[in-house]
Amino acid sequence: MIRRAAAAVLCLALVLCLSGFSPAPKRYQAEFFGLFDTVTTLVGYAPDRASFTALAQKTQDLLREYHELYDIFNTYHGVANLKTVNDTAARAPVQVDPRIIDLIEFSRALYEETGSAVNIAMGAVLRIWHEARLRGVDNPAGAAVPDMDVLRRAAEHTNLDDVIVDREQSTVYFADPYLRLDVGAVAKGFAVEQVARRLEEAGVKNLLISVGGNVRAIGGKPDGAREIPWAVSVRNPNGTEDLCTVNVFSSSVVTSGGYIRRFTVAGEEYHHIISPETLMPSRHFLGVTVRCRDSGLADALSTALFNLPWEAGCALSAKMPEVEVLWVFPDGNIRTTAGFFAVETGAAV
Ligand code: ADP
Ligand code: MG
Repeated sequence: MIRRAAAAVLCLALVLCLSGFSPAPKRYQAEFFGLFDTVTTLVGYAPDRASFTALAQKTQDLLREYHELYDIFNTYHGVANLKTVNDTAARAPVQVDPRIIDLIEFSRALYEETGSAVNIAMGAVLRIWHEARLRGVDNPAGAAVPDMDVLRRAAEHTNLDDVIVDREQSTVYFADPYLRLDVGAVAKGFAVEQVARRLEEAGVKNLLISVGGNVRAIGGKPDGAREIPWAVSVRNPNGTEDLCTVNVFSSSVVTSGGYIRRFTVAGEEYHHIISPETLMPSRHFLGVTVRCRDSGLADALSTALFNLPWEAGCALSAKMPEVEVLWVFPDGNIRTTAGFFAVETGAAV
């Protein structure tokens, strides 16, 4: 009897094996800190925990490479990164990894497309705000808004044309000795996009990557024999709960908001997205969410649209049919482009 049952199990295993059957993938999640000054969350589907852990490790390793290259605050042994560039590129051209050149050139294109609403050469101005915020958070009683004369003088050193890139030599040179790069508006999304593409090329099919809310989907979620979109939450900038959910398949959702990285002076809040025109935190919106395929584009655009009045933002997004936008106004009102809530399906991709 036992022998007959064992033979039946063996037979079934052989049939499943020959028919190419593999067990339904299970959902796994991983979380790690320390990259891009935020938390990274991965959700994926794999036949077993070991293969998901290997994928999570690979994703983390790839993200770390970009994190080290694009860091403007820290140096890493053997890496010429953006801090190295900021510290030395005014003296002589600095040789860098081509991925630094890629980020600068991508940012230059977005600077031009958005009428300079996002400018990575604003480092001199952004550093003043960054330091004011650190001091204000550290010692709220002594918090102060930066002096406008000091901001204006710094703004004289924010011309992206003074960032001279030589792609052949892979070098960066600053023609203005006081210019500094700050890639906070673009680096996370650009890095996530490059990593997602490398994983896709390596055959990864179903993974949701979120680096501090900068979300990029690879494929959809397995659901039996088909795949369904990932449901991605957009946070309510007025509170801690979710504002809405969008359904994405192989694309990105990125939010820029004035509700993080803030400090208070005389009861007034000051956040970290600075208008190149006023040199003050932009006050058009509480948050702007961009949804499109390319996560680098979504990140750069969400910051740019946060800095642009609604009409200008509408005109800009109308020129980019693949881009969908949600704006949250200071009074809590919401406006979106027509397709913002459209449900993506695998077929449409
Ligand atoms: P998050 O901090 O959530 O990634 P953003 O993508 O909007 O949000 O990036 C904000 C960061 O971008 C700021 O912390 C600062 O480093 C930088 N930044 C702020 N204003 C500008 C601007 N006008 N142009 C380019 N970068 C900016
Ligand atoms: Mg951004």
